[in-house]
Amino acid sequence: MKISGFNKTTLLDYPGKVAATIFLAGCNFRCPFCHNSSLVLHPAMQPEFSQEEILKFLTKRRGILDGVCISGGEPALAPELSDFLCKIKDIGYEIKLDTNGSRPDVIKSLVKNKLVDKIAMDIKACPDNYRALTGLKHPDMESIRESVDFLLEGNVDYEFRTTVVKELHTEKDFREIGGWIKGAKAYYLQAYRDSEEVLQPGFSSYTREELESFRTLLLQTIPLVEIRGID
Ligand code: SF4
Repeated sequence: MKISGFNKTTLLDYPGKVAATIFLAGCNFRCPFCHNSSLVLHPAMQPEFSQEEILKFLTKRRGILDGVCISGGEPALAPELSDFLCKIKDIGYEIKLDTNGSRPDVIKSLVKNKLVDKIAMDIKACPDNYRALTGLKHPDMESIRESVDFLLEGNVDYEFRTTVVKELHTEKDFREIGGWIKGAKAYYLQAYRDSEEVLQPGFSSYTREELESFRTLLLQTIPLVEIRGID
């Protein structure tokens, strides 16, 4: 497990909490719009933080911070993840895991062992469009569906979210996602934001009005749909 990024304080990554975010290097997806491309493509070249220094910091900040967000890359790939989360739990933090949903076995085990308090899972697109959005020829939709189903069962607090990219998503995606995650507790449409770190440059965002029209469509089947990241 390689910790390659550490944000000491955020109000954004763990909604409702003052949190620190830990970024683990490496990912099994190649989403063209990914804005953490160096973590995904060149994990060996990234800086490394030791678990000890992170745990020491979190111990010192107990009472000031109240949550830890584990992000990436794809954190569920890290073999030492559960041991590390166990140590963070021992300090007394609530933990949110950001995941692409490709490792339902890991998600289930972390929930079973009470090592995560919230899971934010990406819904990259409607199932037919997963190839384009993940950059994989054969995305493992069975695993993705298993993760979705597990979260929909309400075993743990969760949210689904989609980074919406004008060149990659159409209304069809949201029509189908509305059926797929029907009744979900919360679903966020995140406007794409360009950055120098993006894996494949050249994408843009829908307007607020266009995102609102997707939201209206989704509200037919999902009680809470919100838009993030656009004025
Ligand atoms: S967006 Fe997430 S799942 Fe996709 S390549 Fe980047 S880190 Fe991996």
